[in-house]
Amino acid sequence: MRDPDCLFCKIVAGELPSQRVYEDDLTVAFMDINPATPGHMLVVPRAHSEDLLAAEPRDLEAAIVTAQRQARVAKERLGVEGVNLLNSCGAAAWQTVFHLHIHVIPRYPDDQMRLPWTPAPGQLDEIAAVAARLR
Ligand code: AMP
Ligand code: ZN
Repeated sequence: MRDPDCLFCKIVAGELPSQRVYEDDLTVAFMDINPATPGHMLVVPRAHSEDLLAAEPRDLEAAIVTAQRQARVAKERLGVEGVNLLNSCGAAAWQTVFHLHIHVIPRYPDDQMRLPWTPAPGQLDEIAAVAARLR
């Protein structure tokens, strides 16, 4: 339920400071201290799980619903046109805090956010081959 060494468990418990913007029985949303854009929030389940793969479905469902709520709030209150949701699962995927969280990142026309890959057509046989492994 709780990891005594976890930064976000401490934030959920109120033992470390945060700018909390929403909470309910299962989730908490607070401001990221290194915002990608103004209004960058993190949504976490109250219950500790290391990442997306380890989370209980109930906590994951609650977190995505809270992320949707905060994306709507960002559109309404900040007047942004778009919002990115981001989850990094595993150190290889950029995760640095190992308590499941969803980034809610409001988007502005002149912000610094960029796609982390360059879209280019793939080889159809390679796409089909990896699809077969994923079925
Ligand atoms: P990730 O790299 O996807 O695991 O995201 C971790 C996020 O937590 C980063 O965007 C950090 O800026 C943010 N972060 C780290 N420590 C704190 C903190 N004490 N309060 C708020 N956000 C934090
Ligand atoms: Zn935790």
